[in-house]
Amino acid sequence: TQAALQKIEQTDSQVKSFLTVTAEQAIDQAQKLDRLPDGNLPLLYGIPGAIKDNMCTEGIKTTCASQILANYIPPYSATAVTKLQEQNFVMVGKTNMDEFAMGSSNENSAFYPTRNPWNLERVPGGSSGGSAAAVAAGQVPFSLGSDTGGSIRQPASYCGVVGLKPTYGLVSRFGLVAYASSLDQIGPFARNVEDTAAVLQAIAGYDELDSTSANLEIPDYSAALNRDIKGLRIAMPKEYFAEGLDPAVRDRVLDAIRLLESQGAVVEEVTLPHTKYAVACYYLLAPAEASSNLARYDGVRYGVRVEADDLIDMYKQTRAKGFGAEVKRRIMLGTYALSSGYYDAYYLRAQKVRTLIKQDFDRVFEKFDVIVSPTAPTVAFKAGEQTEDPMTMYLNDIYTIPVNLAGLPGISVPCGLADGMPVGLQIIGKAFAESTILQTAHAYE
Ligand code: GLN
Repeated sequence: TQAALQKIEQTDSQVKSFLTVTAEQAIDQAQKLDRLPDGNLPLLYGIPGAIKDNMCTEGIKTTCASQILANYIPPYSATAVTKLQEQNFVMVGKTNMDEFAMGSSNENSAFYPTRNPWNLERVPGGSSGGSAAAVAAGQVPFSLGSDTGGSIRQPASYCGVVGLKPTYGLVSRFGLVAYASSLDQIGPFARNVEDTAAVLQAIAGYDELDSTSANLEIPDYSAALNRDIKGLRIAMPKEYFAEGLDPAVRDRVLDAIRLLESQGAVVEEVTLPHTKYAVACYYLLAPAEASSNLARYDGVRYGVRVEADDLIDMYKQTRAKGFGAEVKRRIMLGTYALSSGYYDAYYLRAQKVRTLIKQDFDRVFEKFDVIVSPTAPTVAFKAGEQTEDPMTMYLNDIYTIPVNLAGLPGISVPCGLADGMPVGLQIIGKAFAESTILQTAHAYE
């Protein structure tokens, strides 16, 4: 814990992974753990970790990188955090993110942007950029992020670390500040696949406090890691290797797939024909859910309030001041898509497209064990480069968004460098087949 805090002290003035560093509490907690009798120690005994600032932490500020929650101190912890505590981890702080998890570069944080530890002129990705950068900078061995459309996998790819988005329902969302509830999942970042499996082991499992939590037996994820992949059937969707993919990124990903092939996996090209609609579908459904979820920030129940003469004015001014530009854009998009005259044309249609996207995956998974692709079309871009153009920014998630729409698990594992920056290989699995994607990622690693 001391080493982690020291590293944060040395590097965070530049990287800015953290919004809050809980140094005192961490040292107290570590000393308490030091005094425990030897014997059967829990999985994460004494291991320092960091938590994305959209997960509630009892008594510790949880801001979602938004002005509207700048002073919010939750009275309870998210289930995922409680489960880490049950395994005796030591929380060293809360990580920076795009406001309310909306973004792909961390530049939408209301406080300051995080930078990529590989090159401080570049973005770490987003929205869990702080959690990815904290692991990449060696500040912590693991962290938690959340992934609604790619927010764990894309920053993992940009920062050269492992990041896993679990199957929808595997990890409880209780205490995760809601962005788009039918897509959000909490997952781990770590330096390698083995550590990722250990953290997933700690946070997975049924929770009666989340109505979408799956009641299933949790397998031993570490046990699967060393199985060989001979005969593993790997699908390569041709839509994920098409126009828009940086050639240098493509080469690294193809090298990685060849390496899996050389270990006895069988690789074949497949088609996921509705891929081209995924980004449009996501940018109707996610903002629709967000506009509803963010209605609760009214200056009464949480966070910041701007005083005004009457109630409606207080709502208006609080929300005008409290939310950043991207959050406002999405609230407007979502409110529009849900309004009575447009519901059928936009929201309902997007729901139908979501089903088609899921069916594409179902069809491929009848014959294959995993799907592999690049995690993102490029390596980390320069800070400021895409801030003026939301559409270009949205396309960063073109390979990750379909996985959330289908509720499937996906992992990003580093697969070399292009232009001096890390490239990520994405491995997608069947629902609740986390063991298989971890095993495949480990075989590559
Ligand atoms: N970058 C995507 C967005 O801006 C995904 C974010 C996420 O997964 N939370 O919505």
